[in-house]
Amino acid sequence: MNRYIIKTPKLVHWLFPKRVWVFSRKKPTVYLTFDDGPIPEVTPWVLQQLKQHNAQATFFCIGDNVAKHPEIATQILNEGHSIGNHTFHHKNGWKTSFEEYLKEFELFNSELKKSLSDEVFEDNKTNQKSNILFRPPYGKMTSSQAKAILKKGCKIIMWHVLSGDYDKNISETECLENVLKNIEKGSIIVFHDSLKAEKNLKFVLPKVLEYIQEKGWSSQAIN
Ligand SMILES: [Zn+2]
Repeated sequence: MNRYIIKTPKLVHWLFPKRVWVFSRKKPTVYLTFDDGPIPEVTPWVLQQLKQHNAQATFFCIGDNVAKHPEIATQILNEGHSIGNHTFHHKNGWKTSFEEYLKEFELFNSELKKSLSDEVFEDNKTNQKSNILFRPPYGKMTSSQAKAILKKGCKIIMWHVLSGDYDKNISETECLENVLKNIEKGSIIVFHDSLKAEKNLKFVLPKVLEYIQEKGWSSQAIN
């Protein structure tokens, strides 16, 4: 029995209509997302898999990791993917004051600008992208935090399918089932380019990418 909800129920979409849970079901497109990177142990492998399968994705990075690995952040953008803001220190909004949360949000944006060369920054319009996409760590933020971030012109990107890749209590095949049983056109799927998720991710991601290709769908970056 899973301790978390794999597929976000419609009720939640209805309760938080200003947060993005899923995209149009009419287009044959899915949206893979990778949270908590970039790190050298996992993110370059993810990028290689995406390239092999002609897929684009969105990386919700931790600012602190961007600061440590600016060359990987650069690679993500140079390969046509998007980067979103996931706070600087992976803060739980429910346990963080309003001011501190907003500071974390801004700190991420300034770190991204600082970590990339001007050329990459401009070429990829990352200024626009990093300000546009935000995902709250743990999916937890207060309504006043959300309101302030929306007011900055940001899109708050939640998810439709949680792979559970970070969960040490599930097997690789269970993790794969979480995704394949729930993925649909328009789905936003959460993976993690983190050490915790590495074992499940390395099994699941190539198979999910093959499944997407077999279905004739495409995987696009959110922007
Ligand atoms: Zn996270």
